[in-house]
Amino acid sequence: MVDLPQKARVVIIGGGVIGCSVAYHLVKKGWKDVVLLERKQLTSGTTWHAAGLIAQLRATANMTKLARYSQELYGALEEETGVATGFKRNGSITVALTEERHEEILRQAAMARAFGVEVEEISNERVKELYPHVNLEDVKGAVYLPLDGQGDPANIALALAKGARQGGARIQERVKVTEIAKTGRTVTGVDWVADDGSASGHIECDMVVNCAGMWGHEVGRMAGVNVPLHACEHFYIVTENIDGLSQLPVLRVPDECAYYKEDAGKILLGAFEPNAKPWAMEGIPDSFEFDQLPEDFDHFEPILEQAVNRVPMLAEAGIHTFFNGPESFTPDDAYHLGLAPEMDNVWVAAGFNSIGIQSAGGAGQALAEWMDTGEKPFDLGDVDISRMQPFQGNKQYLFERSKETLGLLYADHFPYRQKATARGVRRSPFHHHLKDAGAVFGELAGWERANWFANEGQERQYHYSWKRQNWFENSAAEHRAIRENVGMYDMSSFGKIRVEGPDAEAFMNYIGGGDYSCPVGKIVYTQFLNTTGGIEADVTVTRLSECAYLVVTPAATRLADQTWMRRHQGAFNVVITDVTAGEGTLAIMGPNARKLLQAVSPNDFSNEANPFGTAQEIEIGMGLARAHRVTYVGELGWEIYMSSDMAGHVFETLHAAGQDMGLKLCGMHMMDSCRIEKGYRHFGHDITCEDHVVDAGLGFAVKVDKGCDFIGREAVIKRKETGPEARLLQFKLTEAEPLLFHNEPILRDGKTVGYLSSGNYGHTLGAAVGLGYVPCAGEKATDVLASTYEIDICGTRVRAEASLKPMYDPKSERVKV
Ligand SMILES: Cc1cc2nc3c(=O)[nH]c(=O)nc-3n(C[C@H](O)[C@H](O)[C@H](O)COP(=O)(O)OP(=O)(O)OC[C@H]3O[C@@H](n4cnc5c(N)ncnc54)[C@H](O)[C@@H]3O)c2cc1C
Repeated sequence: MVDLPQKARVVIIGGGVIGCSVAYHLVKKGWKDVVLLERKQLTSGTTWHAAGLIAQLRATANMTKLARYSQELYGALEEETGVATGFKRNGSITVALTEERHEEILRQAAMARAFGVEVEEISNERVKELYPHVNLEDVKGAVYLPLDGQGDPANIALALAKGARQGGARIQERVKVTEIAKTGRTVTGVDWVADDGSASGHIECDMVVNCAGMWGHEVGRMAGVNVPLHACEHFYIVTENIDGLSQLPVLRVPDECAYYKEDAGKILLGAFEPNAKPWAMEGIPDSFEFDQLPEDFDHFEPILEQAVNRVPMLAEAGIHTFFNGPESFTPDDAYHLGLAPEMDNVWVAAGFNSIGIQSAGGAGQALAEWMDTGEKPFDLGDVDISRMQPFQGNKQYLFERSKETLGLLYADHFPYRQKATARGVRRSPFHHHLKDAGAVFGELAGWERANWFANEGQERQYHYSWKRQNWFENSAAEHRAIRENVGMYDMSSFGKIRVEGPDAEAFMNYIGGGDYSCPVGKIVYTQFLNTTGGIEADVTVTRLSECAYLVVTPAATRLADQTWMRRHQGAFNVVITDVTAGEGTLAIMGPNARKLLQAVSPNDFSNEANPFGTAQEIEIGMGLARAHRVTYVGELGWEIYMSSDMAGHVFETLHAAGQDMGLKLCGMHMMDSCRIEKGYRHFGHDITCEDHVVDAGLGFAVKVDKGCDFIGREAVIKRKETGPEARLLQFKLTEAEPLLFHNEPILRDGKTVGYLSSGNYGHTLGAAVGLGYVPCAGEKATDVLASTYEIDICGTRVRAEASLKPMYDPKSERVKV
């Protein structure tokens, strides 16, 4: 007979490795009344059948930090709980079969060094020593991470569960959460039913955590939150015992979509095939418990064929197990963590894209910390659930996208690589105009955005590479048009949020660091700060009237930024509305931008009538619009906002008028190249919630003396007194050829001190440019600049000039002409 408490502080839904880790870390923080409910048995969803690879290196520094923490935890859990986790550090080898992949793994190795992960670039001879069974045919290079490991997934989860129980958590198997009760944006409790139907009940609780793995989407809907993920079939085989096989490192051959794990004298061969098989579109069967899916040999055969060539001993070994199990995949291959935007007490840790075992320790710890303090412990933007767009919960979209995401884990991670599936969902009102003009689109937050324009007769497709890609010259020409003449590009994907009401001014002054007690028509470039001075959002705020502001955010953070405002609304009498789809936005930038606008509008665009940082309502062609004088490319220019119904007309009017002037349509790659030359920060890369606004060099935008308190004010005053702990420098390589993307290590006087937060090619500066933080507590700016700097690109050090001021137009003379 199930006997559960009627009240709990937190109910965790799901007893896989993730739920167990969250429970474990909450009790470690001293939380009482922690209840975990599992519908069947612990681990019986996806956890029990994981392969157990536990790597350390992820795509960003913080994700790597979390994965490394998982390893340390799993190494120590046996002593704490008496449950053996099977964790061992047997190392891992990744081999490259193409030159492109070789460059990728060398870049990863450089990144690993910047993140403090031990890594060696190894010769083929060394590969053979470490892994004698591998066929080195076509192997172009390899890297070895000696401290990577593997473990027993089920036992890791059970050890975490035991640790949680020891700390007082109540873990109840065979109890399913069937309903989640809510009042407004607050969950008040959960209904549960025992698996055998013998009991049911309700637990009142202060919050819930959705750790329901591939059921996360469905459990999310119960709680009123969007958890975009879809189950996919995921395959491996395990051989019979192979005589004489002893401990081996994990071997990854991503070019053949394969990994090999030696365990107890057998080889487990797993696959990340390019065309995956989404599963359970109609829902996961209620009876699912330690279940397997039917084998599909035809699907696995191409992997096996290559594997037998790569590790020939497999040809002799019989197949003991053919395994097919489901795992959940998200639209961007990153898991979902954090407080769901739709509700104020629903937390999520789900959708682990085949890395749930290696991620569980770190994700559980980070979430527990966040739940405990109410603030993110560090930047978790890669996985923060608020990055997901509402439409991404659409099941048809998830079905289509998940065919691709599984395979992408082992695909070449080329810079600028675009997803191929589930495209075309969000199109701007200019979409067809841009398409007709040769646009090659990329996707962000579901938006189709013109990244570059193909020339007449040129193939409208990316040819990916780590070197200059096929669009490099196209983008260079667009860049030159912006710098020397005039260009037009579509920014309709901007998030547009209206803040209206009698308290609009007071609210804006509380939420943001700028001074919004300004005349109607003023545009304030600003940050929303957290209490430590970290940057939660980087936006422009335009005063539209006495009691209305327009907050313009990056496309990807609209929901996160709006949620941040709503959560801090308190008693302010304002209404916050997403109006993104209501307006199209065209940026007209370049020294001839004024001339072009003047040709299509009777309004006055002079410095006197429309100075930098102001907006005005204009007539344009036969329509109406608002012209915002701002720039993200460092030139004279305007962003023109018009209601979507008039967008086509405005586009055609500007385009026609621009023909005599050489107006060029431009894309997002141009924008990034121009903005990095000008040192403009990119939210999510150069500035995040853990980067102090003063260290980021944006202290100028924070008005501590505006006459009222605001979030982060104290932290800014303090940091202005003590001086920055790090400075965001701009670097330009002294060689014209190499390219920078981001995460390349920064060496100061020969020592690694950080890594680039963003990078691109500066076509005007004539070399690759990057931004990156250099720690400098107690140092003067001149000391920091007096050092010599190098950037590590694939293990080669390239000298770089460093500057605190933008190298392009340091005095912003071009913007204010
Ligand atoms: C073939 C394969 C190989 C893999 N290899 C690796 C690897 O080598 N390394 C690695 O890191 N990861 C690997 N993974 C991924 C890893 O297994 C998963 O990411 C991880 O197990 C996910 O854990 P979870 O707790 O989120 O989900 P689950 O283990 O599925 O747990 C979710 C639980 O929620 C319960 N639940 C659902 N709804 C309810 C409800 N309403 N009420 C109560 N309980 C509910 C379910 O019963 C389930 O037990 C692999 C996965 C597969 C399929």
